[in-house]
Amino acid sequence: ALYNSKTTTRGRTTVYSSEHEARIRSERAIECALQSADLSKEFQVYFQPIVSLPDRTVIGFEALARWQTPDLNWICPDTFIPIAERTGLIHRLTLSLFDTAVRQIKSLPGELGLSFNLSAHDITSPETVGSLLDVIRRHQYDPRLITFEITETAVIGSYEAAETCLQTLREAGVKLALDDFGTGYSSLGYLHRLPIDCVKIDRSFVSGLDDPVAKGVVRSIVNLCQSMRMLCVVEGVEEASQLDVLQSLQCRLVQGYHFSPALPFAEVHDGAHKTGTV
Ligand code: C2E
Ligand code: CA
Ligand code: CA
Ligand code: CA
Repeated sequence: ALYNSKTTTRGRTTVYSSEHEARIRSERAIECALQSADLSKEFQVYFQPIVSLPDRTVIGFEALARWQTPDLNWICPDTFIPIAERTGLIHRLTLSLFDTAVRQIKSLPGELGLSFNLSAHDITSPETVGSLLDVIRRHQYDPRLITFEITETAVIGSYEAAETCLQTLREAGVKLALDDFGTGYSSLGYLHRLPIDCVKIDRSFVSGLDDPVAKGVVRSIVNLCQSMRMLCVVEGVEEASQLDVLQSLQCRLVQGYHFSPALPFAEVHDGAHKTGTV
């Protein structure tokens, strides 16, 4: 019996550790690729329209990072952003992506909003915040058209530092959105304490909209935003039926595959000259 349990344990340990090692190896590989990446060549900004209802006017775009390595592998942001944060490369990456995003949105006709995701490291670094504001000034883009999206988990770790940085951004005239709203632990507390202009309702609520409870949650958040004079964007709208429900709940701003996925700039650029709706 002893002998058996020992082999079993050893067997399990071997399986576990090789999976573990494989994961670390691939993280190391991504880390190396990231260290030596030519940011301006390998990274692109894709743009997903943010749509105003009921007329479906595109009022702006969320910038979403895309990375294609020289061996033509696509690596998704949920993978490379945490690695960039851990290795300290995030500052350079954020500024490079933001510079591209502002330059490109500026070349589109009309006064379009630009929503840009910031990570925890970005919103606790006064240096990064200063550089972000420099980018806006350099491109002479109206700061009121810029929204920085942050998550509450980004704030939790170092609340004081984040609060100071967010205040600096707000004083410069940019807007702040609380991303993935409803997925964290204390969303309401942060909504009250942070200088937030907009809430983005996580797509997990939209996928269950035929359930009366989920529908009630979305209705409550929409009403809450109204009474706090905040904008509210519902993310992850994929189906016409979801859109119907959201319109009945008086949702004004939506985003999702039903309208468009995030697109490379060239496609957004061509589309923008044809029509302002989706
Ligand atoms: P997020 O900010 O919550 O962005 C929304 C994600 O949902 C995007 O994934 C988008 O492509 C996807 N999405 C949009 N519409 C739909 C839909 O209708 N259905 C479904 N299932 N998904 C939809 P993506 O581009 O892979 O980005 C993942 C996350 O990576 C983002 O989540 C954001 O947290 C982070 N991220 C992306 N770009 C950047 C960046 O430039 N900087 C930082 N710090 N984070 C970024
Ligand atoms: Ca976002
Ligand atoms: Ca989100
Ligand atoms: Ca997210």
